[in-house]
Amino acid sequence: MESIRLNIAGEENMVQFGIALGAALSEKVLIFLQGELGAGKTTLTRGVLRALGYRGAVKSPTYTLVEPYQLGEKKLYHFDLYRMADPEELEFMGFRDYLEEGDYCLVEWPNRGEGILPGPDLQLTLEVAGLSRDIEITAFSTKGENILKSLAG
Ligand code: ADP
Ligand code: MG
Repeated sequence: MESIRLNIAGEENMVQFGIALGAALSEKVLIFLQGELGAGKTTLTRGVLRALGYRGAVKSPTYTLVEPYQLGEKKLYHFDLYRMADPEELEFMGFRDYLEEGDYCLVEWPNRGEGILPGPDLQLTLEVAGLSRDIEITAFSTKGENILKSLAG
C-alpha cells in the first residue's frame, strides 16, 4: 500500500490539483474522498471534472446522494453520502448500477456506506491546515498505484 502527502494552499490550487488528478485517472476507477465538511472534497471534484472536459457548474449532491455527469462517451458519478443515515440506502438508490456504469466514481463521505461500498482504488484524505489543506493519497489497487505514480512523477 503506497501513499503520498501534499499540502495545497487556496481554492484555485485545489482545483488545479483536481485537474492533475483527473488527467491521471484511468477508467473504471473508484475514488474515496475523506475529510470533514469544508475540507475541499467538492472543490477537488470540480477540478477532476474540468480535466475530463466538463465546463458547467458543479453542485454538491448532498441531498440527492449522487450527481451524474456525461462527459462525451464517459460517465462520472459524484456521490456525497453525508446525509445518508443507513448504508442500506445505498441499495435503495441502486449504487451497484452506478458503479458498474460509471467510468469514474468519486465518493464523498464513503464511511457512511461502510460495509456495503466496495473498497476504492484510491483514497484521498483531506484535512484543514490553517488556510491550506493537507492531503494524503493512498492506493489500494494496481490502478490506484499507477494514478499515484503519475501524480508523483
Ligand atoms: P467539502 O466538499 O469537503 O465540504 P468544499 O470543496 O465545499 O468542501 O470546500 C469548502 C471551502 O474550502 C470552500 O470555500 C473552498 O474555497 C475552500 N477550499 C478548498 N480547497 C482549499 C485549499 N486547498 N485551501 C484553502 N481553501 C480551500
Ligand atoms: Mg462537498
